[in-house]
Amino acid sequence: MTIGTFFGELVKSLFKRPATERYPYDRKPTPERLRGKLHYDPEKCSGCQMCIRDCPSQAIELVTIDKENKRFVMIYHMNRCTFCDQCVQSCRFNCLDLSSEEWELASLQEEPLTIYYGRDEDVQFLLENQAEPGTEAHPCEE
Ligand code: SF4
Ligand code: SF4
Repeated sequence: MTIGTFFGELVKSLFKRPATERYPYDRKPTPERLRGKLHYDPEKCSGCQMCIRDCPSQAIELVTIDKENKRFVMIYHMNRCTFCDQCVQSCRFNCLDLSSEEWELASLQEEPLTIYYGRDEDVQFLLENQAEPGTEAHPCEE
């Protein structure tokens, strides 16, 4: 490239719109089918474990607090999740969903990437008693 061509290109590019987007200052709406953070609805869960069995990344675990009263806590390891949607497809009770809006999930620490889903009292109970996933925890006497 001659120096004349170089300066010609330089001047032209000064008046062109940038090809890149100004993220994070400009944010476009995300596509409806984008697969972001997994959400879990404990109220609909039967504890069947199909989602756990079918997850290829071992990214989810289910702790049964009280099966009879359908009290479960799902532990979601977001750093292992490949957002493949398999768990969502496997759940017959529509408990799971990948958010199309929550997709900025990077973190330098591991802690925010482990999420406990369930009723507040069940998550609290699990954290206090640290029952092993896949086992049945024994709920506190009310
Ligand atoms: S989206 Fe895929 S990798 Fe992530 S928890 Fe569900 S099955 Fe596992
Ligand atoms: S497949 Fe659905 S109902 Fe079964 S344990 Fe997973 S979330 Fe619960």
